Amino acid sequence: MVFISEKVQNLPPYLFSQFQQRKKQLENNGVDVIDLGIGSPDLPTPAFICEELQEQVKCPENHRYSPYSGCDEFKQAVASYYDRRYAVTLDPNTEVLALIGSKEGIANLIQAVINPMDKVLVPDPGYPAYRKGVHLAGGVSVTLPLDAKKGYAPMFQHISKDDAEEAKMMFLNYPNNPTAAHAEWRTFLDAVSFCRKYNILLAHDAAYDLVTFGKYRAPSALQVPGAKENVVELGSLSKSFNMTGWRIGYVVGNKEVIHALATLKGNIDTCQFMPIQKAAAKALTSDLTAVEKNNSVYEQRIEKLYLALTELGFHTEKPRGTLYLWVEVPKGESSLSFANRLLEEAGIIVTPGTAFGDNGEGFIRISLSVHAERLDEVIRRLKALNKRR
Ligand SMILES: *Cc1c(COP(=O)(O)O)cnc(C)c1O
Repeated sequence: MVFISEKVQNLPPYLFSQFQQRKKQLENNGVDVIDLGIGSPDLPTPAFICEELQEQVKCPENHRYSPYSGCDEFKQAVASYYDRRYAVTLDPNTEVLALIGSKEGIANLIQAVINPMDKVLVPDPGYPAYRKGVHLAGGVSVTLPLDAKKGYAPMFQHISKDDAEEAKMMFLNYPNNPTAAHAEWRTFLDAVSFCRKYNILLAHDAAYDLVTFGKYRAPSALQVPGAKENVVELGSLSKSFNMTGWRIGYVVGNKEVIHALATLKGNIDTCQFMPIQKAAAKALTSDLTAVEKNNSVYEQRIEKLYLALTELGFHTEKPRGTLYLWVEVPKGESSLSFANRLLEEAGIIVTPGTAFGDNGEGFIRISLSVHAERLDEVIRRLKALNKRR
């Protein structure tokens, strides 16, 4: 007897688990493996957020079920954050919904929006949760290629008229995982008007909205005039406040969609623990100096590795945001063969670009989630590898 649904049986295997298995084997053999595959900050959550959690945990009224859509403090904090950061006005009661991390939000949002066999435009390369979420909802993913030559902007001209007319939603994500590309305001303007023309819901994943460097400030898709008609934006505290394990995020924008997602989720979960929501509210309403401190750490790491890689003859752009470098593999190698060689010959784990879609071929993603001294070791090993070539 098979108790497993076809949906789950047919989920493509996560490419990365093979690397993790091999990592264990190598470590058992005494190899010091450096893991630059993890898309998660290594820095701790800022102390003031942890202290707020400790305070909130002491209040018995916070031990009960949260309101389904999130507590008022959290929803108001998200609205005030959007007002301050983007000059976008949100009604905390109807245009903001708390999520148990944005990954949960992505999967459930798709369920709330599409019917089986509906088409969804997904960026390639892109965060795998979009395609997997469409699969789980019985939908059909249509590849929206990103243009490597134009800063990984979406190539709407590659979407056939039929696909555009049949598509019900589109995902975008800037600053982008895995390519580390950023969006100019223009990209959102084009995306919103394309989606409006074809009656498509645009879901913008803004997981790295605060993880930016230098003078660059990431725009919000909701800044496009009239965007609330057909846009929702997902946000997360995971990357900006080093809170991946806390599981707290939000979705904002179109109120019909927010209401539908809240209705669906009301039958699945009962929101996040209130002390976590209230600590997250404190983070969002803070002066963001903790975020700036993090960003300067990432920026220094990126600078270091970018310079070394460039000297070694690798092609890569210096990112304005995210925790990643997106690096071209040497001529004659595939993403997978180069990632394998880095692990076997240098003890370094990176993610092959193909883990993010076919258009990721020819690239690897390097995550900057180790401290500077470890990066020095990475650079030493890459130099040794280069000499052996
Ligand atoms: C990390 C990441 C997420 C998931 O964030 P959580 O809020 O921790 O679930 C979503 N989208 C992208 C592009 C990410 O890189």
